[in-house]
Amino acid sequence: MRKQRLEAIGKRLLEHRQELYAEILRKNREAAGLTDEGVPDLADQGLTDNLREFLHLLSDNKREELIKVDEALDRLAAGSYGLCQRCGEPIDIQRLEVRPFTRYDVACKEAIEKEEALKAGPGRGTL
Ligand SMILES: [Zn+2]
Repeated sequence: MRKQRLEAIGKRLLEHRQELYAEILRKNREAAGLTDEGVPDLADQGLTDNLREFLHLLSDNKREELIKVDEALDRLAAGSYGLCQRCGEPIDIQRLEVRPFTRYDVACKEAIEKEEALKAGPGRGTL
């Protein structure tokens, strides 16, 4: 069952990435002020090569999202998706369904947040 649910998440991630790419292309056209025919077909050139150039057209949120989607898809392809990147245990499938980009199980996520809070110290955010 877990495998099927992971596959369903993978499908959602792919769809999500396509939406984000579509937005990049749309913004690129807007920025270039060109019609459809004036824009090279990025799919033929390998979208990832061009992606970096167009990432600045996305808002920070979308950019971060796209990177997270890509990373999650990389992990899916590598077979490490759904495993905690800290302790190696399988992450709860329901957690993955709600937060498909997550890299850690709940226990490790909380531990990491605590560590980061300690590292950042009381001066955090003063800049
Ligand atoms: Zn863990």
